[in-house]
Amino acid sequence: MSAEARLRDEIVLHGRSLYERGLTPGSSGNISVRLDDGMLATPTDSCLGRLDPARISRLDAAGKHLSGAPPTKEAFLHLAMYRGRVEARAVVHLHSTHAVALSCLADLDPADALPPITAYYVMKIGRLPLVPYHRPGDGALAEAVGARARDHRAILLANHGPVVSARDLDSAVAAIEELEETARLFFLLRGSVIRMLTEAQVRDLEQVFPS
Ligand SMILES: [Zn+2]
Repeated sequence: MSAEARLRDEIVLHGRSLYERGLTPGSSGNISVRLDDGMLATPTDSCLGRLDPARISRLDAAGKHLSGAPPTKEAFLHLAMYRGRVEARAVVHLHSTHAVALSCLADLDPADALPPITAYYVMKIGRLPLVPYHRPGDGALAEAVGARARDHRAILLANHGPVVSARDLDSAVAAIEELEETARLFFLLRGSVIRMLTEAQVRDLEQVFPS
């Protein structure tokens, strides 16, 4: 099996797994994997639970559609993440319930939208900047994402959802799941007095487990 065929199968497997666990409802969410000369991306209006490896879209490095079904309308988000992060090989974007709920809160810190509740959240996501609301398809959104991608693995789009990158697809999926679960914990704990990790504890994690 070629490396590209393996990547197509990985996208299908992860899509199904995310869908079956309720993390990517309806036709929301999209997955991409970077190739040496472009990227593979899930098709527009596709349900991630029922992807066909042969219909996955192939784009060149500039985002031009080359083959397969037409790509997700959010492909520009993925391209912006790849442009900002040379080491990233996979990007996952979901409309997962708790992370979207978080993105709708009015009192978020735009530099770091989710506080450091657990060590694994800090290790897999780090600091999570918030990109202000943009209408779907607005070109300015790509610019805003690209500017923050240089220093962040994950970004939260206001009133929309998270975009997470990693060195491979397994890691990107694990990281966005960690983000969704941490957002869920955040809402479970809301109203309680929470002992967050301290700034010194976060810095210690960043030094021992650099991104
Ligand atoms: Zn979206």
